[in-house]
Amino acid sequence: MRQKRVAGNWKMNGDQAQNAALLHAIAEQAEKTTAALLVCPPFPYLLQAVAALQTTGVEIGAQDCSAYQEGAYTGEVSARMLADLGVQWVLIGHSERRHYHGEDNALLVEKGRRAVEAGLKPILCVGETLAEREQGLTQQVVAAQIAPFLEHFTLQELASFCIAYEPVWAIGTGLTATPEEAQAVHAAIRAQLAEVDASWAEQVGVLYGGSVKADNAASLFSMPDIDGGLIGGASLDAGQFLAIANAA
Ligand code: 13P
Repeated sequence: MRQKRVAGNWKMNGDQAQNAALLHAIAEQAEKTTAALLVCPPFPYLLQAVAALQTTGVEIGAQDCSAYQEGAYTGEVSARMLADLGVQWVLIGHSERRHYHGEDNALLVEKGRRAVEAGLKPILCVGETLAEREQGLTQQVVAAQIAPFLEHFTLQELASFCIAYEPVWAIGTGLTATPEEAQAVHAAIRAQLAEVDASWAEQVGVLYGGSVKADNAASLFSMPDIDGGLIGGASLDAGQFLAIANAA
């Protein structure tokens, strides 16, 4: 039985006061949820989240890390720095990084490498655009985003990964893949992973993201290959986030 996991990606939102209220509410309720919880605040607030959640079992993720180890890379944040703060997870290849910052698979493999070297668990984000879906390319696009990781990481390294399937057209739009549409892609992802190792594929968490809210979470999470969610907008509202966590 795979552990259900619900992750909040705060994106570029919040300030210390708002975060304190959100973190307090999550900390108070965390023990009651059956899903494993994780929040991904912006870099400047990671330590605030680590401090607020340290006794709760809620884990902390970063939204990105540098492809470089260290050195003269102004503005970059290394995976090792994140691990040093007490961060356990890092998003790799969120569609907003791929689209607004031109991050391609080769760069993302390097980021994944730095994450694994630092002992961080990567959440590899994949998903198709609306145009790609309309052309019937969804599974091909997603498979091509995953394949470089299967090629460049050993099974032992891959064991720490989660995958997040986030159709780009469903992110922040209020449009959600139906549970059946999402399940079809999740099953295809798991089949691709099973080509590497069947028992690993049975264990790896594959999260769904894209306009998950309290009222659609249960039907998505009830699908056999959907192991929880990566939540954007709704993760900024403690009530919504916790309701989603309780739907897992
Ligand atoms: P929304 O839940 O706001 O659609 O965002 C999803 C997402 O991108 C999470 O990483």
